[in-house]
Amino acid sequence: MAEATAKKRKGTALLAVMNENCSSCAGSPICELHCPVDGCINLLYEETPQGGLKPYRVWVDNEKCIGCQMCYSDDLTKIHQHKETGELFYEYAGRFYDSSKKPLEADKMPKKFQLQLVGTESEDRLDKKICPWDAIKMYEYDEGLEVSQYFYDAEKIKKVSGVYVVEAEEKERLEEKQGELYGG
Ligand code: SF4
Ligand code: SF4
Repeated sequence: MAEATAKKRKGTALLAVMNENCSSCAGSPICELHCPVDGCINLLYEETPQGGLKPYRVWVDNEKCIGCQMCYSDDLTKIHQHKETGELFYEYAGRFYDSSKKPLEADKMPKKFQLQLVGTESEDRLDKKICPWDAIKMYEYDEGLEVSQYFYDAEKIKKVSGVYVVEAEEKERLEEKQGELYGG
């Protein structure tokens, strides 16, 4: 099933997973501002004992995430493919490089409309990570689907007055599951 989903979805072979370090950025998720896909990174609220709601963390809609890494790093090399020749080009900080990563001469530069973005590479430098809490990890899609189940399950998330809410029992279930993940 996961394989069929992976084939149908747009984007790269990667999936972003937000783990237990996520603090929701106090209800204003920084990562969400960087995500180019609407409704992909979503704020999740939890119920308080008094019956109210407070920001808990974010969850990623695994069906929508295109694995672009824009929520993950501010230090990305973009990989473009020529639509006709299939040739790969790399773009870093506005400059283009050929498939051996040598700077591209001006006369070899394809037109923008001939290129399609097929992926990104991240240097994974700590000072360039988007999340201040280092809560975002990029995984190969299938592995990401499995890991994400420790942090959120889209089917168990409710929508209340237009916001996403995790129930207390579900939160407890996930926290116990995370104990297994870390051998606790
Ligand atoms: S930037 Fe990090 S802490 Fe903030 S909402 Fe995103 S994953 Fe959570
Ligand atoms: S990898 Fe791209 S699409 Fe996926 S959550 Fe991050 S920014 Fe959004």
